[in-house]
Amino acid sequence: MVAASILSDFERPGGATFGDLLAEDANRRRFSRRAISAHSHPALVLNADYRPLSYFPLSLWSWQDAVKAVVLERVEVVSEYDAEIHSPSVAMRLPSVISLKEYVRQDRSPAFTRFNLFLRDGFGCVYCGSKEDLTFDHVVPRSKGGRTTWENIVTACAPCNLKKGGRSLRDSGLHLPRKPRQPNVYELQAMGRRFPPNHLHESWVDWLYWDTELEA
Ligand SMILES: [Zn+2]
Repeated sequence: MVAASILSDFERPGGATFGDLLAEDANRRRFSRRAISAHSHPALVLNADYRPLSYFPLSLWSWQDAVKAVVLERVEVVSEYDAEIHSPSVAMRLPSVISLKEYVRQDRSPAFTRFNLFLRDGFGCVYCGSKEDLTFDHVVPRSKGGRTTWENIVTACAPCNLKKGGRSLRDSGLHLPRKPRQPNVYELQAMGRRFPPNHLHESWVDWLYWDTELEA
């Protein structure tokens, strides 16, 4: 709402008021040409270095938020959809890819969540590689003083978890391929891009994969 009130006073060169285009629900009925729902035409959001802000979940803004950010000049439009929105006086193509003008640092530590733990381990059991029936395993069992930390929790399938039970790794006969540790945001992002969402607009693909390592 704050942005909308700023925008109602915002004049583009040429005198058309872009506030008309923006956002309050009552106004949306005036976007004539074709009905665009809040869930369609999302914009992929890139950081100022043209890497996606997030891969998993993919950083997407609704077209309303994307258009607001464009009008407020917080983002650059990198690519557009064919679809347009119309006010009585102005037409604007919806952005499909936008990049932030100010770089957002991503050096914070990732949250210790179920999701991030699964992501670190590639959504697979660290012991056998199974992708099904995933749960968590304390490498050093809680009964032996094992703590619930990045360094002691791994993704495991239910059968491996059951097999291991309250035993130590050595006694269980299971093999841990790498020592678990806290990932950084970039490592999680690198994992995330291996799990693309079901729907990718063609204009997003370059930005999602342009900096992946080339095969020699
Ligand atoms: Zn397993």
